[in-house]
Amino acid sequence: MITLKEALNKTEGELKEIKSDIKQRAKEYAELNAYIGEIEESGEGVPILIKDNINVKGWEITCASKILKGYIAPYNASVIAKLHQSKMCAFGRANMDEFAMGSTTESSCYGRVKNPLDTSRVPGGSSGGSAAAVAAGIAIASLGSDTGGSIRQPAGFCGCVGLKPSYGRVSRYGLVAYSSSLDQIGPITQNIEDAAILLDSISGYDSLDSTSANLAPLQTFKELNPNIRYKIAVLKDFLKDATPCVQKAYEKTIKTLESMGHTIVEKSMLDTRFHVSTYYIISTAEASSNLARFDGVRYGTRAQANNLKELYLNTRSSLFGEEVKRRILLGSFVLSSGYYDAYYLKAQQVRQQICADYAQIFKECDVILLPVAPSVATPFGAAQSPLQMYLSDIYTIGVNLAGLPALSLPADKDEHNLSIGMQFIGARFAEQTILNAAYGLEKELA
Ligand code: GLN
Repeated sequence: MITLKEALNKTEGELKEIKSDIKQRAKEYAELNAYIGEIEESGEGVPILIKDNINVKGWEITCASKILKGYIAPYNASVIAKLHQSKMCAFGRANMDEFAMGSTTESSCYGRVKNPLDTSRVPGGSSGGSAAAVAAGIAIASLGSDTGGSIRQPAGFCGCVGLKPSYGRVSRYGLVAYSSSLDQIGPITQNIEDAAILLDSISGYDSLDSTSANLAPLQTFKELNPNIRYKIAVLKDFLKDATPCVQKAYEKTIKTLESMGHTIVEKSMLDTRFHVSTYYIISTAEASSNLARFDGVRYGTRAQANNLKELYLNTRSSLFGEEVKRRILLGSFVLSSGYYDAYYLKAQQVRQQICADYAQIFKECDVILLPVAPSVATPFGAAQSPLQMYLSDIYTIGVNLAGLPALSLPADKDEHNLSIGMQFIGARFAEQTILNAAYGLEKELA
């Protein structure tokens, strides 16, 4: 597939051909289930695939949930408006985990997405459609959202590049909120250059998002430099949870970076189990509040009912999926009086500790290197319990709790040719640093 950088040099006529080619190929690869329905386009320019939780004016937006079926977006998310200003357009809807809750894209109401590297395996999640399409060569690039790893982990599982920007770097206006203090929109691309280009185009202050950082749009592509040498922190005590092939890939990546002239420093941090419990308390608390608006009155579909109470009850009981309901229950519980102090407040305190932990490392180092996930893409249905799925997020969720930027680069393969992603984590707003470091490694591995 043509890269984003190349596509931006094409004429509108040439892009028309590319778009019809993508439509054709998407049909041929329909089995992957990466796209939802027929491909629509929002205008002229290079086609970018959009996750189903980002508003595109006039398009249905469902977050892969039955409860939002039939809801048409009345406005463009700020990132879509920004794409239009950078000679790009929204092109097709990417399948996802319902309301971005999940790590496998098995919870979509449109059915699961398959990993193009091995169709008996999950593509990761929740932006599984966005990653699978780029990896399969049926999208030039895509936008996903990352609340606890949903851009980086599917990119890692499918073998593409995924970047979660610093909190506040990219406007969340028009992104359906899952957990407002953690969510960020970001690019999934074929390589680092494209990630920089797409990030630059969607970044920058937006008065429509009160959490948007007052910073100018990035120009990381222009500044990309693979030759700068950094001080890179490695967290070896995090590794006990990883499979042997991921551990080996981590060691190998460290050696490569060292041989390239980077300085490697061993560091330690709070146990990742605290990251997991803190994340699943805060994210479900925020989700229970954010999803309260879907009650059958204002958005999408409503269930049969004889009175208002029944309308709420029937709509939410029958149209939300199991995982979403589980999280609403958990989130309501940790926020309820009597438990608030023990769970929610405690989690906020631990969150501060996690932020301080990262800050301590970044006093001395430029980048933290970690695997993206403790294993390669798993076969469908592998998670025995929700908890087991939650535990697989150990390497990605701390980054969201601390609002940091992080990037996932395919750095190795296991014996079955499945991708192993490595994560470059940076200090807040240091997107350029992680792009540079990963760009250098990408070139070295090429
Ligand atoms: N897997 C995590 C969760 O289920 C992350 C999801 C995300 O980043 N949207 O919450």
